[in-house]
Amino acid sequence: MGAMQVVATVLAAAVTAVAVWLVIRAVRTMFAVVRLGQPDPERFDRKLRRTRTMLVETLGHTRMLKWTWVGAAHWLVMVAFIVLSSLVLEAYFEVVTPRGELPIVGHWAAFGLFTEAVSLLGIVGILYLISVRLRNRPGADPARRSRFVGSTMWQGYFVEWVIVLVLVCGMLIRGFKAANGDLPWPVWAAPVSHALGDLLPASEAAVSLVALVKIGISMTWAIVIALNVTMGVAWHRFAAFPNIFFKRSARAATPALGALRPMMSGGKPLDFEQADPEQDQFGVAQVEQFTWKGLLDFTTCTECGRCQSQCPAWNTGKPLSPKLIVLSLRDHAYAKAPYLLAGEDKSGVPAAAVAEAERPLVGAAAVGGVIDPDALWSCTTCGACVEQCPVDIEHVDHIVDMRRYQVLIESNFPAEAGVMLRNLENKGNPWGAPPNTREDWTKGLDFEVPRVGAVSPDATPDFEYLFWVGCAGAFEDRAKKTTRAVATLLHEAGVRFAILGEGETCTGDPARRIGNEFVYQMLAQQNVEAINAAFAGRETKKIVATCAHCFNTLGNEYGQLGGDYEVVHHTQLLAHLVGTGKLTPIKPVDGGVTYHDPCYLGRHNRVFEPPRHLLEAIGWAGGAGTAGPGMVEMPRFAERSFCCGAGGARMWMEERIGKRINTERVEEALATGARTVAAACPFCLTMLSDGVTSKKSTGEAADEVEVVDVATVLLRAVKPDA
Ligand code: SF4
Ligand code: SF4
Repeated sequence: MGAMQVVATVLAAAVTAVAVWLVIRAVRTMFAVVRLGQPDPERFDRKLRRTRTMLVETLGHTRMLKWTWVGAAHWLVMVAFIVLSSLVLEAYFEVVTPRGELPIVGHWAAFGLFTEAVSLLGIVGILYLISVRLRNRPGADPARRSRFVGSTMWQGYFVEWVIVLVLVCGMLIRGFKAANGDLPWPVWAAPVSHALGDLLPASEAAVSLVALVKIGISMTWAIVIALNVTMGVAWHRFAAFPNIFFKRSARAATPALGALRPMMSGGKPLDFEQADPEQDQFGVAQVEQFTWKGLLDFTTCTECGRCQSQCPAWNTGKPLSPKLIVLSLRDHAYAKAPYLLAGEDKSGVPAAAVAEAERPLVGAAAVGGVIDPDALWSCTTCGACVEQCPVDIEHVDHIVDMRRYQVLIESNFPAEAGVMLRNLENKGNPWGAPPNTREDWTKGLDFEVPRVGAVSPDATPDFEYLFWVGCAGAFEDRAKKTTRAVATLLHEAGVRFAILGEGETCTGDPARRIGNEFVYQMLAQQNVEAINAAFAGRETKKIVATCAHCFNTLGNEYGQLGGDYEVVHHTQLLAHLVGTGKLTPIKPVDGGVTYHDPCYLGRHNRVFEPPRHLLEAIGWAGGAGTAGPGMVEMPRFAERSFCCGAGGARMWMEERIGKRINTERVEEALATGARTVAAACPFCLTMLSDGVTSKKSTGEAADEVEVVDVATVLLRAVKPDA
C-alpha cells in the first residue's frame, strides 16, 4: 500500500464512520416519530400476501409503470442503486489497493457484464429523469401544471446528480483499471470499460483516488439525507418497502379506495353508542392522532407530484394539493416531534418545537394552521391522488379523518353543508324532500314496480334484485329519468326486481365524506336493518344501484356494520342483459358519444368496461357537426378520469375558489365533438348537465349536446318509442 492509498484509506474510513453514525441517528429519529402514531392493528394480517404485493410493486414497479417512460427510467435507476451499493463496497477495496475487487464475484466475467450493463442503463435512466425534472420545473408553466410545484427541488437535483456522479466514477475506475491492465474481465464482458481504458493513461493512483471520490460522494449523500430526515426523495428508497407492505389492503393493485377507513379510537372502530369525546378520539385534531401508518405515509412521500398532477381541486386553482397536504403534515410531525418525545418534562424542548406544537392542525395561515381549511374542504374524495401514488399513500383517509374532528367536535365546516346534514337527520335525504314522495318516480310507468321491506313486510313480492333507487334517483328530476329508464329496461328484460320505497333512506355517503360519521352510522344502520329485513330468509342478497356513491357505500361500507350484499351497478347488470340477448338495441342513436367515468364507479370500484360495452353495443349514426359514429374518449378517462366536482359532499358546498371543476370537465367533453355526454351517476349527471347548460348559454356548446345516463341512451336504442 503506497502513501496515497494510506491517506485515501484513512479519509474513506473517517467519512464513512461519520456517515454511518449520522444515518443510525436519523433512522432512530424516524422510528421514534412513526411510533408516536396511534395503533393500527389491521396492517399485520396476511403477511405472505403483503410480502408478495410489496415485491411486485417495488421490484415490478407496477404502479410506477402507469407512467411508462418515467416508470421504466426509474426502474433502471432503482436496479442501478441496488447494484451500485455493491460497487460502492468494492470501492473500499480499490482505495486500499488499485487491483482491489469484491471477494468471490469480483473477477467473474458475468459480474463484470452485469454491472457494466446496469451502470450504463442506470446513467441513461437518471439522465432521462433529470430531463423530466428540468422540463417540468416549477415556473416553466405559469398555470402551475408542473407536478413539482411545492416540491423541494434542490433535494431532487442533489439525489439525481449524486447517482450520475457515482455511476460515472464507477466507469472511470473500470477505465483506469483497464488502462493499467488490471481489469479482470474480457472485452465482451466490459466493452465500454475497455474502450475507456484505451483513452485513459495508466495510473494506479488514479484508481484509488477516483474510488475515494466515489466513496466521498456516496457518504456525502448519506450525511445530507441523515441531516434531513424529511428528505423523502431520498428516504423513500428505504421507507417505500414498509409503506407498501403495510398498505390498507394486502391485495396487489388495490389502493386505499372504495370504503373509507372506519373512524378509529385506540386501534378499534368507534362505537357511537358508547363513545366518550373526553376519552375517545373523534377524528384527527393533532398530527400524533394519525396512526403510525399515517406518519409512515408522510415520511415516505417522494415529492414526485403525481397526485397533484391529477387532483381536480389543484387543477382548477384551489389551494388543495394532496402532495402539499402530505408534505405539510410530514414537516409538522417532524418539527413537533421533540416536543412529543420529551415526555412530561418539557423544559429542555427547543422553542421551535414548542411553537410547532401550538399550531392548530387545521387553521388559516393567520393563526398558524398546518392545513388551510379551504384546502381541507376542497377535496372531492375522487381518489385520483391515491390511484396515482407510487408508494401507496392514503390521502383520502387522512383528509376525512381531519374533517371528522372539524365536523364532530368543532362544528367547523362550510355553512351551506349544514342544510344537507340537517335534511339527512330529519328527512333521510339531502334535499329535504318528504319521504312519502320517494316512489313518485314510478307514476306513469306502464307496469307496476313492486315494493318490499319495512313498509309492506306482508306483501313481499318475489324478486331477484333489490333495486336501490337512491335519493337523487327518487327526488332529482334528471336522475328520476335514469331511474325510470333502468326500471323499464329491467322490466323489459324480465328481471324480477323490487324497491324499498319509503323504507329507503340516504346511504349516508355525503355525511360520511364530509366527516359526520355519527349521521352516517345512524342512516347506515337504519338501511342495513331495512335491507336485511327485505332479504330475510334468502340465500342471495343482490342489490342493483344507479348511483355510484350508493353502489360504493352499499357494496364496500355496509359490511363494516353487518350488511354484506352482492351489489352491482346498473351498467353492469344492463351490460349483462345486453350480452345475454335479453335486451337488444335496435335503433341507432344520432351523433357520437363520450363517456365520463364517475370516480366512485371507476377509480374507487374499478368498473370501467361495462358502461363502455353498453355504449359500443348501440349503433351511433353520424351527423353534421358530430364526431361521427361511435365512442370517443376524452383525454382523461378510466383510472385517470377527471372528477365532476360533486364527490366528498362537495355537491352541497359552494365552489368559490378557482374555476368550477364541472366546467373544466365539460370543456373536455365538448372538445370531443360528441353530441351525447354519457354519465353513470346522478351526481355526475347533475354537474355535467349544469356545465353544459352554462356553456350553451354562452354559445360555447351546440343546442343538440345533451348529458344523459347510459341507461337512458340504451332505452332509446332498445325501445325507441318509450
Ligand atoms: S381525493 Fe381528489 S380532490 Fe381530494 S386530494 Fe385527492 S385528487 Fe384531490
Ligand atoms: S403523495 Fe405519493 S404521488 Fe403524491 S407526491 Fe408523494 S409520493 Fe408522489
